[in-house]
Amino acid sequence: AGAATPQPPRQYKLAPQSELRVEVLPDAPLRVRLVTGTAEIFGTELPPEGWVPVPPRSKIAVFTWHGATVELDGVSESEYTSDETPMVIYVNTHAILDARRARARAAAAQGGDMEASQGPRVIVVGPTDSGKSTLCKMLLSWAAKLGWKPTYVDLDIGQGSITIPGCISASPIEKPIDIVDGIPLEMPLVYFYGHPNPSINADVYKVLMKELAKTLEKQFSGNAESRAAGMVINTMGWVEGLGYELLLNAIETFKANVVLVLGQEKLWKMLKDAVQSKSNIDVVKLHKSEGVVLRNSKYRQKTRSFRIREYFYGIANDLAPHSNIVNFSDVSVYKIGGGHQAPRSALPIGAEPVADPTRLVAVNISTDMIHTVLAVSYAKEPDEIISSNIAGFIHVTDVDIQRKKLTYIAPCPGDLPSRLLIASSLTWYEA
Ligand code: ATP
Repeated sequence: AGAATPQPPRQYKLAPQSELRVEVLPDAPLRVRLVTGTAEIFGTELPPEGWVPVPPRSKIAVFTWHGATVELDGVSESEYTSDETPMVIYVNTHAILDARRARARAAAAQGGDMEASQGPRVIVVGPTDSGKSTLCKMLLSWAAKLGWKPTYVDLDIGQGSITIPGCISASPIEKPIDIVDGIPLEMPLVYFYGHPNPSINADVYKVLMKELAKTLEKQFSGNAESRAAGMVINTMGWVEGLGYELLLNAIETFKANVVLVLGQEKLWKMLKDAVQSKSNIDVVKLHKSEGVVLRNSKYRQKTRSFRIREYFYGIANDLAPHSNIVNFSDVSVYKIGGGHQAPRSALPIGAEPVADPTRLVAVNISTDMIHTVLAVSYAKEPDEIISSNIAGFIHVTDVDIQRKKLTYIAPCPGDLPSRLLIASSLTWYEA
C-alpha cells in the first residue's frame, strides 16, 4: 500500500437505518463528525457537534436510525455505506432485555426473592468474527443510555475488550461506552489466565470463571440496582469441541438466562437442545452483520500485541510507563497450573499420580522472562493467588542474573502493590 494518499474531507448522506462502515489505518489519523441528524457508533451516539477521533486500526460503523449526514476527515483503509444491517433485530432484543430489567427492578422493590429480582444475564456466543464484542457493546450502551448499570463480563482471552489478552474480566458500565476510550477501566475485576488460548489449561480457565462469577454474585447480592441491570457476557469464538464445552460451562457458571447465538445455525441448534429444554434459558438466534470485518490469525496476534502496548502507553500513545528495578528477592513469581504431578513416592501405595491442573508452581526468574507480561496479584499469600484478582501488569524489559535484578515497566510509578507476581506466555516486543 505504501504511504497513504491524502483524501479531502467528504460527507455522506445516510438514509434511515443505514450505516457508513470505515476501516482506519494503523498510522493515519481519521476523524468523524455529525453534520445533520443523529447517528451512533455501536450504540453510542455521536455528539451533535465537533470531531470525534477514531482510534487507529479500528473498524467501525456509523449507524443512523432516522437519517444523518456525517463527514469523514483523514485517510481510511476502506469506507462504504450499507442499508442492510441487523440493527432492528438487535434493538428489539435490547427492548426485550430492557423489559426484563424493569420487571426485576419492580420485583426487588416489592421485596421479591433473589431470582425474581435478577435481571437478564445475557451471554453472546458465535464463531470468530461474528460480531460478538460489537453486539455486547451495543446492548450495554443502549442499556446505559436508559440509566441501567449492567455489568460487562469478558471471557474472551484472545481478543478481549476490557484489558490485556489472557484475562477474564468484568466491569460495570454506567454510561454508553466511549467511542475513543472504550470500556471504562476504573473498576475492572480482572483474573489472570496468562495465555491467549484456553486449551493450554482449560481447567484453570474454568476455575477462574468460577472465581469471577462468585465475586460478581457477591456484589449483586448487595446491590439491587446492578442485579436488576444484569450482565452482558462476551465469549471466545471457539465453538467446537473443548470450545463448545467451555461455552456450556460459562452458561452454567454465570447462570446465564439468555443465550444470543450469532451467525451459526448449528451452534444455535446444539445449545438449544443442550440448555433450553432443561431450564428456562432462552436460546435466541441472531443474524450476523455483513459489516463485521474478518481478521486472520496473524492480525489477531498483532492486535494482542497492540493491546499490551496500549496498556502501558495508552490508546492514543498518551501515557508514559515507568521503568523500575527490583531484586529477585523482592518478588515471588508463580505460574498457575504447572502440570507437574505429585511424585509417586508421596502417594499412598497403589494410588495413581494425578496432575493437579490448578496447582501453583514457583518459577525461577530467568532471562526467558524478558519481553513477557507478569500480572501483579492482589493475593496476600501464594495459596490465594488463584482466587485473587489482579491489580495490574508489568512488562519485563531486562533480567540480570548476575546481579539478581529484574527491570520492568509499569503504568504507574512507585512500588508494586504486591510482591506476588504471576508468569504468563504473553509477550510483547517494543518496536
Ligand atoms: P472474535 O470472536 O474474534 O472476538 P467477534 O465475533 O467478537 O470476534 P467483533 O470484534 O465484534 O467480532 O467484530 C470484528 C470487527 O468487525 C471489529 O473490529 C468490529 O469493530 C468490526 N465490526 C463489527 N460490526 C461492524 C460493522 N457493522 N461495520 C464495520 N465494522 C464492524
